[in-house]
Amino acid sequence: MMNLRRLGVVGVFIGVVVSGVLISKNAVAADPIRVLIVDGQNNHNWKATTPILKDFLTKSGRFTVDVVTSPPGKSPKEAWDAFRPKFSDYATVLSNYNGDLWPEPVQRDLEAYVSGGGGLVIVHAANNAFPEWAEFNKMIGLGWRGAGYGNRVTVAADGKVVETAKGEGPGAGHGSQHDFSVVVRDREHPVMKGIPAEWMHVKDELYHGQRGPAASMNILATAFSAKQTGGTDAHEPMVWWIPYGKGKVFTTVLGHAEYSMKCIGFQTIVNRGTEWTATGKVTIPVPEKFPTATETLAAEEKK
Ligand code: ZN
Repeated sequence: MMNLRRLGVVGVFIGVVVSGVLISKNAVAADPIRVLIVDGQNNHNWKATTPILKDFLTKSGRFTVDVVTSPPGKSPKEAWDAFRPKFSDYATVLSNYNGDLWPEPVQRDLEAYVSGGGGLVIVHAANNAFPEWAEFNKMIGLGWRGAGYGNRVTVAADGKVVETAKGEGPGAGHGSQHDFSVVVRDREHPVMKGIPAEWMHVKDELYHGQRGPAASMNILATAFSAKQTGGTDAHEPMVWWIPYGKGKVFTTVLGHAEYSMKCIGFQTIVNRGTEWTATGKVTIPVPEKFPTATETLAAEEKK
């Protein structure tokens, strides 16, 4: 009797320990998401911005990040033959690349990878790349192209999406760099849920007149491009996503320079957008300290 009672107590004790371990394991996090950043050519300082992207993605605690660097511009075929990123080893791919067209096998690999359910994240000038690659243009929807290339998309003051036909209105450009307000247009989307409806972004280029096939675009945030800063007097898309087969393509045209990428708002949407393209869910919290409608907030420098 005594022994049985003891066994019972021990059994309960073991049960508590086991369930305690399970609870804490669930509370810590799921397995890290594997992210591949692609760089190597850009009309921007990719050698400075890739480490910033990698650093804040890693610090979120949600990702392990590898970087694949292409050959430099105008490299011979042999150099490109060695460039075969293994997209399928990763849950999502982030492009910080704007340069020479990738070899055909790499193009077909990316198309198969995204249409099969892989994620793709496009940051700033990565949407300037590959005007001649039709499937890439479908993935990004809008790219840095001339007015004759394709449709333009803006958002009216009442939130309605407005398409401007090919050839009408301005093509791709930007006015002078400045701090500007980002307006969230879909506050229920997992990436945007909990982010303030309007927040002030650190000095950046405000892209306007982006052009492309613009099919199945889901606009998540816009910014008003003011005439005074050389803009278009329209609400231009800043963040959007497009389904491509089973995959998701998440684009932000924010992120011109190191200082723009220090914005807590930028880092939050790239972190959450990257997670969402990989898993379809967002668990990375919105930081308590976030830019407000009138005040920017940059990540603190490493001491
Ligand atoms: Zn730029």
